[in-house]
Amino acid sequence: MDPLDTFLVPSHCPVCGAPPSEEGDFLFCRSRNCPIQLTGSVQVWIKRLGLLHWGDALIDRITDPSDPKVSSLADLYRLTVEDLAACSSGAKFGKKCYDVLHSNKSITIELLIASLNIPNLAVATASDIVRAGFDTVEKILSMTYEDLLGVPNVGEVTARQVKDGIADRRQSILDLAAVLDVRSPAGGLLAGQSFCITGSTSVPRKSLEKSIMDFGGTVKSSVGAGTSYLVTNDPDTGTSKMQSAKKHGVAVISESDLRRLMNQV
Ligand SMILES: [Zn+2]
Repeated sequence: MDPLDTFLVPSHCPVCGAPPSEEGDFLFCRSRNCPIQLTGSVQVWIKRLGLLHWGDALIDRITDPSDPKVSSLADLYRLTVEDLAACSSGAKFGKKCYDVLHSNKSITIELLIASLNIPNLAVATASDIVRAGFDTVEKILSMTYEDLLGVPNVGEVTARQVKDGIADRRQSILDLAAVLDVRSPAGGLLAGQSFCITGSTSVPRKSLEKSIMDFGGTVKSSVGAGTSYLVTNDPDTGTSKMQSAKKHGVAVISESDLRRLMNQV
């Protein structure tokens, strides 16, 4: 017998018991009250912001449903060095985690909304939304379904998911805006963002690098914790830059994603 014939699709979330939502090949628990959702949200937040030292073991400890140290993303910024030390391998490590979190509090509005674990809202879509004029926290919170349908590359499914995702996280977004320095785009579409390129590109690499700089971005020769994006046309490449991007949780985008960020498509 085909082993797939005997696979039972779970009828409820093993943590909170809510029925799962089927999205493509995957099942997700989207219950607002599910404690495991917070773990997933913190993991996405940390990875998108590219914060070093914050491993899954630490995140599991601080979001442990039986003894949570935080109840929202904004709460992360209220953890003390001692809190972090108690949940990790000691004072030195706790201090490193604290410092990396607090030295990365200035973020763009795109990165803020792309880091909220909202289905179908990754960096490219977030950029499309911001470039369509929804470039402040207030404007993001007041977007309607119809507003979203008017954004380039956003269809009905994405518009609905983004609208619901933002509405569900309204308080979380306001709390984050209060503790972070949220920047609106200024001085070029890529201002404040850094890029590293790996593998072949459709135009000479230097020319792509020049475009990045023309749009206010910075070009890096290697990928580190502070790099915003690794650009590659081969997401399966095993180059050391890709390995470093995975290690540091740096967002990986294609050349065409980059062109979208520069408003060239
Ligand atoms: Zn659940």
